[in-house]
Amino acid sequence: MALIVQKYGGTSVGDADRIKNVARRVAESRAGGHQIVVVVSAMSGVTDSLIALAKKVADTPPEREMDVLLATGEQTTIALMAMALHAIGVPAVSLTGAQAGIVTDGVHTKAKIKNITPKETHRLLDAGNVVIVAGFQGQTPAGQITTLGRGGSDLTAIALAAALQADLCQIYTDVEGVYTADPRIVPSARKLDEIAYDEMLELAGSGAKVMQLRSVEIAKKFGVVFEVRSSMSNQPGTIVKEETRSMEDIVVRGVALDKNQAKLTLVGVPDRPGIAARTFRALAEAAISVDVIVQNVSHAAAAPLTDLSFTVDKPDLAKARLVIEGLKADIGFQEVTSDESICKLSIVGVGMRSHVGVAARMFETLAAEGVNIGMISTSEIKVSVVIDIAQGDRALRAVHSAFLG
Ligand code: ASP
Ligand code: MG
Repeated sequence: MALIVQKYGGTSVGDADRIKNVARRVAESRAGGHQIVVVVSAMSGVTDSLIALAKKVADTPPEREMDVLLATGEQTTIALMAMALHAIGVPAVSLTGAQAGIVTDGVHTKAKIKNITPKETHRLLDAGNVVIVAGFQGQTPAGQITTLGRGGSDLTAIALAAALQADLCQIYTDVEGVYTADPRIVPSARKLDEIAYDEMLELAGSGAKVMQLRSVEIAKKFGVVFEVRSSMSNQPGTIVKEETRSMEDIVVRGVALDKNQAKLTLVGVPDRPGIAARTFRALAEAAISVDVIVQNVSHAAAAPLTDLSFTVDKPDLAKARLVIEGLKADIGFQEVTSDESICKLSIVGVGMRSHVGVAARMFETLAAEGVNIGMISTSEIKVSVVIDIAQGDRALRAVHSAFLG
């Protein structure tokens, strides 16, 4: 007998029929003699419409009340799921995050899980129940309802799997697994059988949104092996785990395109110590996250000036510009320019550590496509380039076919 944690995302529980479909699948897993814990998201669209509703009654709703509101999304799903299981003769009990012993810090709308006391869950499982836990929520030690940030149901599932020492953690979603590229852009993309945590993290950071980033970090930290698979089919999905030797044989595991970036350039910045520090400190204080940074060589040895470019998330562009304009008197750059028509193309693979010529091959492929590279950044297992957004899809296909066929 195994203890299995299964997480079903918003689309998988998007309407009554889909909830019944999940109930049948859970019943089948249980019929295999296993103990099943089910973590569910809010039905698709519910969290978004609750947020929209809140914005209609108040410009800046208090975050404590946002959490009280948003937690109802998942609470709806757990009750419906338990009912659907009862209806087909499977004993099931729903638990809110608090009832499942999920204790968080007090940072409303993006709380961190501090600990989980799985006693009640174990007791209910041992009594023969399927236990249904609301994703995305917990409570502070003082009993305040909190939520874990968008996509937080993934985190609930991974953290519960760790706390329960589950034998298996399955993340059911509306795709068959993790792909070598977004199949909507690259028709020849393939589902991966396995991927290393670090590759998954780099791909997620590069715009491939299969799962919440933080939940993959937590899985890595606690060594939770999990499978991403579809709730609509019975195909095996993608196993996400610590890297193994054999994973290094594959140079590039996947490619990704992030169209949600914009570029800012400070033109004619004095090239002396402290300028970059002040610039990026100011951005950090405005909670703007910066991705690729490039500083050019400077000219004119007497009073050297340089250009400093970096990318931010597109929705942060206006705010970032304001922050930078505010530094003008202090830093004394000539002007700031911005460009929204860019995207970031990345190739990711742990095999890059032990293979040479990977970047060269990527750049040759782009050159052959007539794609100009604006910025480059690398990590041990990733090469990213910033290019024109109009060429993004074509460049992604070319690079995918160069490395992954
Ligand atoms: N319902 C929450 C959201 O939409 C959490 C989740 O679905 O994982 O972000
Ligand atoms: Mg989700």
